[in-house]
This record gives sequence, structure tokens and C-alpha cells, in this order.
Amino acid sequence: MSTIEEEFIATVSHELRTPLTSIRGFSQTLLNSWDKIKDEDKKKFIGIIEEQSNRLIHLVENILMVSKTNAESQILKKVNVNKIIENVVTLIKSQYKNHKYELQLMNNLPPALLDEDKLQQILTNLVDNASKYSDAGKSVYISTQIFKNLICIKVKDEGIGIKPEDYDKLFKKFSRLENHLTSKTQGNGLGLYITKELVEKMNGKISFTSSESGSIFEVLFPIYSEEEALKCSQAS
Ligand code: ADP
Repeated sequence: MSTIEEEFIATVSHELRTPLTSIRGFSQTLLNSWDKIKDEDKKKFIGIIEEQSNRLIHLVENILMVSKTNAESQILKKVNVNKIIENVVTLIKSQYKNHKYELQLMNNLPPALLDEDKLQQILTNLVDNASKYSDAGKSVYISTQIFKNLICIKVKDEGIGIKPEDYDKLFKKFSRLENHLTSKTQGNGLGLYITKELVEKMNGKISFTSSESGSIFEVLFPIYSEEEALKCSQAS
């Protein structure tokens, strides 16, 4: 095994162990001392168990998606991008109840030839980051449009932004940037690395712009005819 693979496994194991230890600890405390714990503390502990479980699910989904990407050739199918955005936003909304989500989805957007699971993971990572790195009460805007022969998906936030000196670290594996929200939020610096891999695997491009008033992540996918998509699937 190469040093990089060993490093990857060590980091992932640590990332898995931390939430699991916390889930086990709080469940044991609740089970062993149920009658002695105040109601408000019970609620707090169950909240932590839920939060840590979400963190685990997110991490495991990202890791599975990477191994899937490496292991198999993909099947591109006609995907209704707007519908997937709506599904993702419904899920994320339930985790960030104090954020607002505004969708500006193009009517009659042609179906894109993509892998639905990968697109779902890409959007989950971007909308989750837009929410995580902006304060409660802020808005996240998600839009779709056609630009030449490309489908363009934008995720815009009113968050803390990304400093120019950090631009080249953003898509690196396990890199989290220094800011006041990174220390308060959970993450492992895998999300954007995996997002970029998935976008590029489907012949797309990802880019971003950022300032102190927020960031915009833009994903472009080519619009293919079905014959072209078939050739792409066979080549990948
Ligand atoms: P994670 O969120 O798990 O730390 P990511 O790979 O998704 O990992 O992101 C890497 C780092 O990039 C984050 O730790 C954060 O500092 C920064 N980042 C990502 N998205 C945004 C965003 N929309 N606004 C500001 N910073 C961001």
C-alpha cells in the first residue's frame, strides 16, 4: 500500500471514530443514568447523537461515492436536474432550519445525461457547504440555466467567503480552511475534493468566485445527444 493510501485510511478511520465515540458515549450516559438526567440535558444529548449520525452518514456517502467512481464505469441517464436540486434542498433545509433557500430554476431545462447519484452528491456537498459556511438567517440561492451547449448550476451563499490565499487549498483532500465557522462546524475537508472528482468524471467543470460577502460555486455540464453519452460512458 502506498503512503498516500495509508494516510487516507488513517485519516478516514479517525474521522469515523470521532463521531462513533461520541454517539456511543452519549447513548451509554442516557441508558445508564436516564432517571438522573434533566429533561433539557436529555434533549441536548439526543441532539448531539443526531448531529454526529448525520456527520457519519455524510462522510460514508462521500467515501462510497469515491470508491464507486474508481471502481466502475458510469451509466449516464437522462436526469431532471431541477428535480434533484429540489430534493437536495428539501433534505438540507431540515438540517438548517434558520437559513433561507431560494431556487431560480430555468423552466423547460432539457434533461442532462448524467449519473443521478453523483449529481445528488455534488449538489448535497455544495448546498451543505453554502449553509454551513454562512450564518443562520442568511440565504442560499440555487439556479439553473443554459449557457451555449452547457447546463449551468450555480450555488450562491451570503457566507464568510474564501480568502484568495486559500484558493489553491480548496479542492485538496482533507484540507479545511482557517475561519471562525470551520472551528464551529463539522467537516473533514473531503467534500470539495470529492465534488470536483465527480464533476470531472461526468465531463463537467467546477469553478468558484468569492468575496467577503459570500461565494458562488458554478458547475457546468455539457448537453449531449444520447449517442454521444453512450460513447462517453463506454470511454470512462
Ligand atoms: P469540509 O466542509 O468538510 O471542511 P470541504 O472540502 O467541503 O470540507 O471544504 C473545504 C474547506 O473549504 C472548508 O473547510 C471551508 O473552510 C471551505 N469552504 C467550502 N465551501 C465554502 C463556502 N461556500 N464558503 C466558505 N468557505 C467554504
